[in-house]
Amino acid sequence: KELPADENITNEIRNVSKACFSFVTPRSPSNPKVIHVTKEVAKLVGLSEADTASSDFLDVFSGKKTHPNTQPFAMNYAGHQFGNWAGQLGDGRAINLFEVNHRSKQWMLQLKGAGKTPYSRRGDGLAVLRSSIREHLCSEAMHHLGVPTTRSLSLITTGDQVLRDMLYDGHPDYEKGAVVCRVAPTFIRFGNFELFAAQNDIENLKRLADYTIKYHFPEITTKGKQKYIDFFQAVTTSTKKLILGWQRVGFVHGVMNTDNMSILGLTIDYGPYGWTDDYNPNWTPNTTDAEGKRYRFGNQPNIALWNLLQLANALYPLIEDAKPLETILENYSNEFQSEFKKMILEKLGIENIITTDENLVNQLLTTLQEVETDMTIFYRLLAKVSKKDSPESALEKLNFAFYIPESVTNNTKESWLYWLSLYIIRLQEETLSDEARATKMNKVNPKYVLRNYMAQVAIEAADNEDYTVLNELYEMLLKPYDEQPKFEKWFAKRPDWARTKIGSSML
Ligand code: AMP
Ligand code: MG
Ligand code: MG
Repeated sequence: KELPADENITNEIRNVSKACFSFVTPRSPSNPKVIHVTKEVAKLVGLSEADTASSDFLDVFSGKKTHPNTQPFAMNYAGHQFGNWAGQLGDGRAINLFEVNHRSKQWMLQLKGAGKTPYSRRGDGLAVLRSSIREHLCSEAMHHLGVPTTRSLSLITTGDQVLRDMLYDGHPDYEKGAVVCRVAPTFIRFGNFELFAAQNDIENLKRLADYTIKYHFPEITTKGKQKYIDFFQAVTTSTKKLILGWQRVGFVHGVMNTDNMSILGLTIDYGPYGWTDDYNPNWTPNTTDAEGKRYRFGNQPNIALWNLLQLANALYPLIEDAKPLETILENYSNEFQSEFKKMILEKLGIENIITTDENLVNQLLTTLQEVETDMTIFYRLLAKVSKKDSPESALEKLNFAFYIPESVTNNTKESWLYWLSLYIIRLQEETLSDEARATKMNKVNPKYVLRNYMAQVAIEAADNEDYTVLNELYEMLLKPYDEQPKFEKWFAKRPDWARTKIGSSML
């Protein structure tokens, strides 16, 4: 709104300097069809059911028509990809349509997959049904899990064919095109600040920071340099909360580049993400990261810190004093450690933390890796363990969580019995009843998460225009912590065929 834009409205791919965004025109789809609309998000932005069923809705959210008196734009940003400076990136396939103020809240509505922008580089600006289903379902699943995220208003197929891969025989492999409308208070990322810092454009860096603080951090009332220090502190705090949320539910983002780090601490950019079925800190769903495993599950807290350091570097010209930034980063590490333990203890249903609980947590995280143990199922079943259980009877109750129950023998069985003996003794020291503890545990340990194979099943059906699985998963994921007998079949370990399946690739 307050920053200079390009004079010409053109989607031509180019380098853009001294600008936060470029005006663009979304691509018109050949035969758009609404596949799914999120009622709750429609309500948030003030759209009624009649509105979402209208042809205007289809036109605007498929990119066919521009809403009157609005001017769509793509944002310019840079970033570090896989630890390396990547220069200008920008919205290569996202186009901001307009902002909505509704019930004193501000929302940006953005199409993903509506064609090329100045920032498309070598990409086509498009999205396929497969990746769009993954984004649409997972945004909403995350929201209902209580993890901060961008939302998804709609999933629309375009009727166009999109070229993704060349098959081994040299024939092109086309997939169905789709467009998702993402919704968030803002899509500003760490990379927006890195762009101006790298260009040494301090004037625009300051304007961007002032704009972001004014509209999205109204609680910051300090002036001068302190204002930017407080801003960095706020971003660090919300990023910490975000990562704690991911670690709690077993979500692995897969591409934690600084251009995918929301300034609001929202989960953003659902690409090759995945859920760790068996608890495995070394797992990453991203095949392009298979060697270095930079973005593996257990490394997400460190990477967030590394990304925050890049943001600190970008904001430095506005503060010109490294000390307060360093202090904030040091505090992140310390606070993360202690809040992470607290979070695991909450998953264990322990209320009054004592010093030996550190050992209980560490032992568990080691034991969980001895044989393949399903993380989601484990925590859910653990709620059934009683103070009166023996370690043996408790282990019985956990049986379903093990991928190969017969492998829990000898040393592994010993480890589990040992840990369960510690746990049961610990439960006996707590005042909560078994029942009350189970209720509390089931509020932080989801019963249903969007496992990779589930999305895959929904995608395969949707590719044949059968949206029943998509709709079923969607409904189930609205209440991930509830017992939902009709969805019990999804409370299951990843099937064997899905063992090596991974998330979709970047494009
Ligand atoms: P990502 O790894 O998804 O964060 O994407 C990195 C960069 O590539 C961003 O600038 C994206 O906008 C861009 N990008 C990803 N996919 C496409 C695509 N199909 N067409 C154009 N740009 C893309
Ligand atoms: Mg991205
Ligand atoms: Mg992406």
